[in-house]
Amino acid sequence: MLSVEALLLVASVAFAAFYNRALWHLLFGSADLTAPRTAMLFTSLFVAVVCLQFAGLALLLTRRTVRPVLMVLIVGTALASYFEDRYTIFLNTEMLRNILRTDLAEAAELVNPPLALHLLLYAALPAAALLWVRVWARPPGRALLARSGAIAAALAIVVAVVAVQYRDVSSLLRGHREARHLVTPTNYLVSLFKISRDALAAPSRERQPIGLDAHRVVRVSSARKPTLLVLAIGETARSANFGFGGYSRETTPELSQLDLLVYPRVEACGTSTEVSLPCMFAPVGRRAYDERRIRGEESLLHVLKHAGMDVLWIDNQSGCKGVCEGLPREQLRGDSDPVLCDGERCLDGILLQRLAAATETRTGDLVVVLHMLGNHGPAYSRRYPAEFRKFQPTCESAELADCSREEIVNAYDNAILYTDHVLATLVGYLAARTDRDTGLIYVSDHGESLGEAGMYLHGLPWSIAPTTQREVPMVAWLSPGLEQATGLRHDCLREGTRGEVTHDHLFHSVLGLLQVETSIREPALDLYSRCRTPAGGPMLAHRAAGDVPDVALPN
Ligand SMILES: [Zn+2]
Repeated sequence: MLSVEALLLVASVAFAAFYNRALWHLLFGSADLTAPRTAMLFTSLFVAVVCLQFAGLALLLTRRTVRPVLMVLIVGTALASYFEDRYTIFLNTEMLRNILRTDLAEAAELVNPPLALHLLLYAALPAAALLWVRVWARPPGRALLARSGAIAAALAIVVAVVAVQYRDVSSLLRGHREARHLVTPTNYLVSLFKISRDALAAPSRERQPIGLDAHRVVRVSSARKPTLLVLAIGETARSANFGFGGYSRETTPELSQLDLLVYPRVEACGTSTEVSLPCMFAPVGRRAYDERRIRGEESLLHVLKHAGMDVLWIDNQSGCKGVCEGLPREQLRGDSDPVLCDGERCLDGILLQRLAAATETRTGDLVVVLHMLGNHGPAYSRRYPAEFRKFQPTCESAELADCSREEIVNAYDNAILYTDHVLATLVGYLAARTDRDTGLIYVSDHGESLGEAGMYLHGLPWSIAPTTQREVPMVAWLSPGLEQATGLRHDCLREGTRGEVTHDHLFHSVLGLLQVETSIREPALDLYSRCRTPAGGPMLAHRAAGDVPDVALPN
């Protein structure tokens, strides 16, 4: 028999001691805990975490709800601590949103014997113990008194221990602001609260339209062909492992043979698909990052639609994250093709087939987004066919801890090698299309950690993420017809770009490339504007050769 308060205290101590290893490792991993001052600091923070989580639980739970809620919390906290420990993930709102939108196939890849063992020890056993516990009933008046007394005492202890060591505590926490995202279970409970609050505040509100004034300014001539621009959005491909980005291995042999515009180090908007994807298709981007605004507004694709172009999103991943809301979309499934799919997922080669099919029925100007599976982890070895297993030995398990770093990197590099092949094949296909002016822009959504400093996967808070998670490759290929039709000078394009390139450039560069005029386009962020033949220059000569002057096509 225990009182509710005693049970919550036991739970809070257990959470702090056994489920917060990642937190203590972050704060004290390199410190010497035998030094008295460090030991004192550790003890104070431990007590503070116990008391704060206790006070929070004591405020919310009643005698009737305490056992079922703790049961759920034990399972949730066991799962959270497993992934925090293994992969150094921080359960902030962005990360949790990512997790909640993970599809079943992705989740299934994470299930393995070590996770099962962890859940047995940290979820099943404590949950069974909880079943045995009986909770005292007190008369309502006394229960209220005991509860408020316990909460007040817990908060008083927090104030006391922090006050005594204020200097040390504040300097440690100032240096590790992100530590708050590791206090488990508070981290995911707060994130869950924020996500549900946002969902309730905007119950499937219509997206704000943007760029309604968009229209294409194109030269009308008998030679003009319909445009086909492909935006290939890569997944988890980092600059550091791209051959043309200066990597010691040749992981991009096929692309290196092509006449491309290469941007080897582009700063991604976020460190997860959930953040990067909506952000790179939005006009505001990272420089004025505003998640609520980005999620509440239409995307680049809607603006292209307003300008009279056809758009299509073909997805070989976990969806378009709202970017293609209300627009034509094809989702590939595990059974979409007997050769390229294994029942769960499809290799990216399938995107070429789907692109070809899609252009058959659409004859006007068209922009197609190919959302690639790319290097989606942790099962890198399942992202390429056997003939791309060039770097060996490879990690064949989704449990990265079972593999050496070398095996993990080999599998990751083979997946890049396959992306190289898919993109080069795509360029070959587009170059052969004589019925359209074609172009391709490839950019990855975010990078990946492959064991550097003990970190794996991605999704660290932007402010502390290493460059391996933030730097992504980008390439563009434009057919001679598209360059000519849009007045871009070939030699100028190949001189490269000045200054830093980021995801923020994508929105404005695509509009510029397609000659879409709208008040929300910022020419300063158009990577190509510098190379556009100014009107009145050579363009006049071009007109004299028989073309009619520029006209603005109505929507
Ligand atoms: Zn991603």
